[in-house]
Amino acid sequence: MTLYLKNATYIDWKTLELTLTDLAVCPGDGGVIRFLETVPPEKELGAADSVFDCGTRLVTKSFACGHHHIYSALARGMPAPPKTPQNFTEILEYIWWRVDKALDLEMIEASALISALYCVKNGVTFVIDHHASPFAIEDSLETIAGAFDRVGISHLLCYEISDRDGEGPREKGLEETRKYLQNGNQGHVGLHASFTVGDVLLEKATALARRYDTGIHVHAAEDQADQAACLKDHKRRVLERYRDAGVLDLPKSILAHCIHLNEAEKELLRNSGLWVVQNVESNQNNNVGLANCAELGNQVMLGTDGMHSDMLRSAKAAFLAGQAIEGIDFPGIYRRFRNVHEYIRTSGFSGDGDNNLVIFDYNSPTPINSTNFLGHFVYGLESSHVDSVVCGGKLVVKNKKLLTVEEDEILAFAREMAVKLWGKMGG
Ligand SMILES: [Zn+2]
Repeated sequence: MTLYLKNATYIDWKTLELTLTDLAVCPGDGGVIRFLETVPPEKELGAADSVFDCGTRLVTKSFACGHHHIYSALARGMPAPPKTPQNFTEILEYIWWRVDKALDLEMIEASALISALYCVKNGVTFVIDHHASPFAIEDSLETIAGAFDRVGISHLLCYEISDRDGEGPREKGLEETRKYLQNGNQGHVGLHASFTVGDVLLEKATALARRYDTGIHVHAAEDQADQAACLKDHKRRVLERYRDAGVLDLPKSILAHCIHLNEAEKELLRNSGLWVVQNVESNQNNNVGLANCAELGNQVMLGTDGMHSDMLRSAKAAFLAGQAIEGIDFPGIYRRFRNVHEYIRTSGFSGDGDNNLVIFDYNSPTPINSTNFLGHFVYGLESSHVDSVVCGGKLVVKNKKLLTVEEDEILAFAREMAVKLWGKMGG
């Protein structure tokens, strides 16, 4: 089963070399694409082969999100909280912890379907998610995986385990994670953040990650409150605590945010070789400050933190914020945008091969070539230009239409679940 892309203006995502070519895109985890002189004539095609004419449109590797929260997908437009949050911990308490506590498996399925739908239509074919639903933990990860599989995109999931709701949900979170990894799924051991994770949980979580040869996916120093609580309760700073627990020794671990680190922690982080995920829009939205990510080393990638599912938007936001803070340039932001592929590859996770492609309908008003592509990347290309998307060698979005699931049905299901969620939160 081969997908042939005719008349592609292919941009090599590493070298930015542009080639007008036909392509053979093979299915499966191998991720192989081959350049062809021309697509074979119709009579030589296999029954399962297909041909898509790109009409010289731009084709390049699709995108991946380093840190997402599908659990927040039904929050858009929800009623205001009973009290206006005044700081980060109140934002969690009055908004996000009210949402995630009201989620049930049906709502989680709708949240995952709608997130996957938006991701793929924005050219995002691999999602690293961090999920919370303290009163619907059992089977939540399989439910999310099932929804992503239906839409047809790849995933690396975890449940964000925490002590915030007591020992019951904590143990259920550990068990859900163990079961998911035991079943052979690729995933992380998720933790919420230092200030809601006790020492017993931290120890159990790192042991679990070691047992299944994976990493910890956790928020780190997103707000000063995380550091203040760590100093008060553990007499050390957040990254020192993670170091002492062995989190920094697990090379597949991901630290989201890392905004409030002191110089010693920055050095600790740089020496650890661990990956950090930058989520600028979320940081601005929560008014928690912004990191100078240039000081965090080279292993920084981008996420959305559940704000949306549009990685081109995340890149533009990180570029504009980075201009003021660290003086980031075009190659710098492009590298950060693409770093997630390096994280996935070096960690040995599957589903992000070169047979994941995005095809842009980008009728540029100015010439585009290898040397100026990054100017188009920063100032021109947007998710509205995504015309078609190939996931694992299969065409999943064709001329802006999703082929795997009925988009209208998913939107209607999501609206129904949103009403149910909001009703439950009000009750
Ligand atoms: Zn997050």
